[in-house]
Amino acid sequence: MHVVAEPCSGCKYTDCVVVCPVECFYEGEKMLYIHPEECIDCEACVPECPVEAIFHEDNLPEEWKNYIEINAIESEKC
Ligand code: SF4
Repeated sequence: MHVVAEPCSGCKYTDCVVVCPVECFYEGEKMLYIHPEECIDCEACVPECPVEAIFHEDNLPEEWKNYIEINAIESEKC
């Protein structure tokens, strides 16, 4: 699955949302989140993000590993 990390915070461009074929982005108060069970790993959103906030979970920089859990929890709330 793909994960939205910290650079998205306060950004909320929705270029990624528009290209997602399964509509698995959810908009929170501060940033966007990807629902882990809905993402099909198509990669379409990655080049669209202007702040490079979207990563495959395996490529997430170490300091943002906690965003795997944050995306899972927050995408359920939205
Ligand atoms: Fe949507 Fe594809 Fe991005 Fe997953 S990788 S969030 S399915 S655009």
